[in-house]
Amino acid sequence: MKITFCGAAETVTGSCHLIETNGVRILLDCGLFQGQREIRERNRAGFPFDPKTIDYVLLSHAHLDHVGLIPLLVKNGFHGEVVTTPPSAEIAKVILTDSAHIQVEDAAYRARKARRRGEKARPPLYDVGDVLDSLDAFRKPIPYEVPIVLKDGVEAVLHDAGHILGSATVELRAEGKTVLYSGDLGNRHRPIVRDPKDPCEADTVLIESTYGDREHRTLDNSVAELREAIKTVIGRGGNLLIPSFALERTQEVLYELFLMWQKDELPKCKIFLDSPLAIATTRIFSRHPDYFDVEGKELFSNVPNPFHFPPLHCTQTTDESKRINGVSEGSIIIAGSGMCTGGRIIHHLRHNLWREEAGVIFVGYQARGTIGRQIVDGAKKVNIFGEETAVRAQIWTVNGFSAHADQPILLDWLAKTRAKQVFLVHGEERSLKGFEKAINEKLSIDSHIPAWKEEVDNL
Ligand SMILES: [Zn+2]
Repeated sequence: MKITFCGAAETVTGSCHLIETNGVRILLDCGLFQGQREIRERNRAGFPFDPKTIDYVLLSHAHLDHVGLIPLLVKNGFHGEVVTTPPSAEIAKVILTDSAHIQVEDAAYRARKARRRGEKARPPLYDVGDVLDSLDAFRKPIPYEVPIVLKDGVEAVLHDAGHILGSATVELRAEGKTVLYSGDLGNRHRPIVRDPKDPCEADTVLIESTYGDREHRTLDNSVAELREAIKTVIGRGGNLLIPSFALERTQEVLYELFLMWQKDELPKCKIFLDSPLAIATTRIFSRHPDYFDVEGKELFSNVPNPFHFPPLHCTQTTDESKRINGVSEGSIIIAGSGMCTGGRIIHHLRHNLWREEAGVIFVGYQARGTIGRQIVDGAKKVNIFGEETAVRAQIWTVNGFSAHADQPILLDWLAKTRAKQVFLVHGEERSLKGFEKAINEKLSIDSHIPAWKEEVDNL
């Protein structure tokens, strides 16, 4: 068995690992590179394999950094199958369509700038037509725990990763060995999704390391901070912005806001869910209560529920979104993108960031090179649409909402696999090194941080 680390190697985004075994060529995920420019350029560099020769993509979940290059893979000749869970297949459609819109808008913007410089414009990575072409590959979704034979002697099983709705760890059995890919592992005791399932035993493990060097504060602390931020900002008549990932984080924030409202602890205000993508993914959640934990199932069997309660307004159109700026009393505005790299949150930042009465609460990971990271790191000014904007709003950063496991959970999960060797992927340098150190100290597993395009033979 041979493995090539084609993405999320020494970085967080672009998850993609090629496994070759028994004459089958399998990709574990096929994600988009995001964040810093030189990392994003890898999307344009061409795959380090011929897409025509790939038989399967085993997709752990439908976050863009895991699914986002599948349309490009299909455009370049992939005609195999994407193996994933039913919710992931549904979520992939909306995430990829949204990504195509962003690619096309971004390419048009850059083309205008390039023309002014007298340079040649680059086409978008892919468009909505390419996404439609790729959907056929998602034809047979597989529930958790149902083994699928990829070829004689090569089997795969998806297990619940507890990260986002439908997320999976991928178990691959071939040549008498088991390779286990963590995908993204969830945090414990979070609302709606179940806790990550204990892993099977494996010979080789590929494990994510996003928070491999740290321990999260508890969700209780983060919820307390969210409540504090709401009371403070709404109390003084400002808007509270929550830049949020459309998937999972938005639904968890809605869940907490709903609990506050139910207990009569939410100050009188409107809550705007100002993200067509988040509105679409929230509807997918509503269609898959069988993937919720026990409390989630119970809660969502009634109305009102976290996705339908009086203060919540879903703003679908741009006009509705613009009207939010005209609301005089303070509001809670949940909008994407989660790292402020684009989307409607940018407009809300432009209208609110310079106001002392306003607030921004970051509830998710902020990658290097993003506006979100600059604000979290304490920038006094940020550049929005080419204009310097002062950061006078009050800023909160809470990490207990994380959909990612922290070091203790990762170590515990890894120990249970009883693996002989582990490859650390999906992390920034500090997290990878910190996690490797902890593994060396606490577990007797041979660990390695692979480089981009590194090949390892004889697994
Ligand atoms: Zn993820």
